[in-house]
Amino acid sequence: MLTAGQILQLIRNGACRTRKELIQYTGLSRSTITDRVDRLIEAGYIHESGVATSGGGRPPSVLDIDAARHLVLVADLGASHALVALTDLAARPLAEERTEMRIERGPEPVLSWVREAFQRLLDRTGRSAGQVCGVGLDLPGSVDRTGGRLIRSFLMPGWDDYPIGEAMRGSFDVPILVENDANAMALGEWWSSWRESRALVLVKVSTGIGAGIVLDGRIYRGVEEAAGNIGHVRLRETDDRVCTCGSRGCVASLASGHTVAVELGQQTSQDVVRLVQAGDPTAIARTQEAGRTLGIVLATTVSLLNPGVLVLAGDMAETGEHYLTGIRESVYRRSLPFTTRNLEIVTSSLGDRAGIVGTAVLVIEHVLSPAAVDAALAIAPETRT
Ligand SMILES: [Zn+2]
Repeated sequence: MLTAGQILQLIRNGACRTRKELIQYTGLSRSTITDRVDRLIEAGYIHESGVATSGGGRPPSVLDIDAARHLVLVADLGASHALVALTDLAARPLAEERTEMRIERGPEPVLSWVREAFQRLLDRTGRSAGQVCGVGLDLPGSVDRTGGRLIRSFLMPGWDDYPIGEAMRGSFDVPILVENDANAMALGEWWSSWRESRALVLVKVSTGIGAGIVLDGRIYRGVEEAAGNIGHVRLRETDDRVCTCGSRGCVASLASGHTVAVELGQQTSQDVVRLVQAGDPTAIARTQEAGRTLGIVLATTVSLLNPGVLVLAGDMAETGEHYLTGIRESVYRRSLPFTTRNLEIVTSSLGDRAGIVGTAVLVIEHVLSPAAVDAALAIAPETRT
């Protein structure tokens, strides 16, 4: 017997649009379908929107996801910035706020800013914490998602093993998801622009380098949640430069935005972007060279996964075509032509919003899953308004 949560999936994926179609599709009785549908409507998951055409008699009302009633709060935390958003269940942003903030300040000041910013977003839109059905955060590190903890990040000293989920749960008693930033960005780009592609790889190049992989619409994480950690592939073991991980010759220490900045006598990858946009020939040449260096590792990635899309995101995506040109040169030169025949190598279309969009999609998929919907309905549907 299908549960209300499973009935919701049939409406979400477009298999059934009316009560009659649900009865025909599932073989369940009219009274059972009416009961399930009424509970989903009452809890605000679906609503009746317009009428379908019918072969005669009274036209049936169309059932659709009610995107407006439940809300999601998400935070995208980078090495030097934070972006928070309140979205509806279609991942549409209702309000956003951004600030410059160094994540190395540690979990307490950063997460307390996030909690306060979440409250400001609710206040600004006249919504209440009771309408929030899920919270998500993405961070530049590997995360233990079930425990809501950071496993490891060289950009986030002081965060190791910090119970991020628990710290947020004090303010919001709803599912709280923690995700790696490149994974979240990859899902955001796939969801907004490339849903027909079975394999997408996103590489984020800012202070560091990381990648996210989306296969058949789902993030591929590997057995240790460490898939996509390409920044610490050691390309030149005799190189003088010591990487943030302590090794020498990692691709991150040769081709990251931070490395290019230091070589140009600058501080941050944003300084590099400004120089390149101003037409500085040294900055442009060095940026393209860094792209070619990372492209060596990406050629292996492309040969291994045969993706349809390779997306460049992060600060270096803002250098126009320059970093991308370097990547293209190496990937095409070092891969078999038929593996790259249908490969699109592009810059991020969502820009610095890819993380919050992807994290929102992740939270929405979680809270609308059959198990989560049935659990929420079992608690007290009448209080979830
Ligand atoms: Zn390294």
